[in-house]
Amino acid sequence: METVRGWTEEDLRRLDEIVVEGERRFKERQPRSRALIGEATLVLAGGATSSWQIARPQMVWLSHGEGSRIFDVDGGEYVDLHGGYGVGAVGHGHPKIVEAIARRVPRGTHFAQPTEDAIVVADELAGRFGLPLWRFSNSGTEATMDAVHLVRAVTERDLIVKVEGCYHGHHDSLMVSVSNEEEIGPAERPVGVPSGAGIPRAITDLTLVVPYNDLDALEKVFAEHPGEIAGMILEPIMMNAGVIAPEQGYLEGVREVVHAHGALLAFDEVKCGVTTSYGGATGYLGVRPDMVCLAKAMGGGVPCGAIGGTEEVMGRIADGTYEQVGTFNGNPLTMAAARATLTEILTPGAYEHFDRLAGIMVEGSRAVIEAYELAAYPLSFGAKGSITFSGSKVRNYRDFLALDDRFSQAHWLFQHNGGVFLPPWGKAEQWTLSVQHSEDDARRFVDNFEAFARALRR
Ligand code: PMP
Repeated sequence: METVRGWTEEDLRRLDEIVVEGERRFKERQPRSRALIGEATLVLAGGATSSWQIARPQMVWLSHGEGSRIFDVDGGEYVDLHGGYGVGAVGHGHPKIVEAIARRVPRGTHFAQPTEDAIVVADELAGRFGLPLWRFSNSGTEATMDAVHLVRAVTERDLIVKVEGCYHGHHDSLMVSVSNEEEIGPAERPVGVPSGAGIPRAITDLTLVVPYNDLDALEKVFAEHPGEIAGMILEPIMMNAGVIAPEQGYLEGVREVVHAHGALLAFDEVKCGVTTSYGGATGYLGVRPDMVCLAKAMGGGVPCGAIGGTEEVMGRIADGTYEQVGTFNGNPLTMAAARATLTEILTPGAYEHFDRLAGIMVEGSRAVIEAYELAAYPLSFGAKGSITFSGSKVRNYRDFLALDDRFSQAHWLFQHNGGVFLPPWGKAEQWTLSVQHSEDDARRFVDNFEAFARALRR
């Protein structure tokens, strides 16, 4: 790792001041958002449409998006690296998406009977992920819920294994040890903890939790529950704890252990999916699971979800063992947008574009880190990436928990006040590039990062 100068008491005091000043400027810029929050609170619970839109220091209300930019209700313009929590790989108002949706709308947007676009989308996903059979849903939550049901249905076992710190959507079986900080047990042997109210222990007790990048711990869990574990689900690259990469051989090892015990492996590629490479993390890392869950970017901005799998697994849907259902599954509008996204926009050239821009952001921020001797490092895969404020590589959730939130919050504020909208919840999230972002957009990110570094080392 680069030269790192430790943080002095003085640095950390300045960091606190930077956050206070950044939050003051942030709020000052957004009186209209504040007024809308007041209005919304009367009719929307908590004044928001999803609780994770309520972030410090204040929720930002948007008016519109255009290309790589989004605009808030106070007239602020931002390079959009938030990407609507990882959806935005096509950017805003992409002509191909506008055309596909405009063509579909007057011909009907819902039938609950399939349209031909569904075959094209499934065929395209089969090619990308090397898994032959697909079904659709409407969100990442539904996709991973289907995966959990399916591994249980196929194996006729109840227990599942998940990785500590991985978020897979808000259904009971996987709202376990997501962002908990208390009563989590020893690092090598995490205790499964319900993540949030309303999640019964009776259900979460069926979910066993292991640390990421630790094959010994995984072996132990399987050895302790012979013939009882249906399957394991994980993000191949962890993307709800910044960006944490799998170590050499980890995913191959996971597949081997899981299969040795007659269980099934599902990759949650809701975030990694069609963003990290043409074939997602599955294609990029070369380890094929039994099942892949998708959502977010594959729909080009329209609600979407999908699961794909082997003949063996998906055949159990085909033969009626597991009824994978949903009124909106394969919705014509979603399928039209997904078809345009996959066949016309996220073509191989799009991934070269992501790599070029990510190169500017990663190399640029690395140069800043060296010049200012920061304990931090950038990491990116295709359209996704982040800066982790640590002097050593973060390998798992416990390392991630130990990161000082103030650095990512201060960085987030510097980017926001400097016209770059990263997703809130700084240390947990990461940027998403779109095909409409430019090199200037990437450089604005680096410039803001340098301004932050300068303020820190003043
Ligand atoms: N899996 C992962 C890896 C996610 O990041 C998310 C959402 N952030 C989900 C599943 C759930 O997706 P959704 O919000 O569409 O239900």
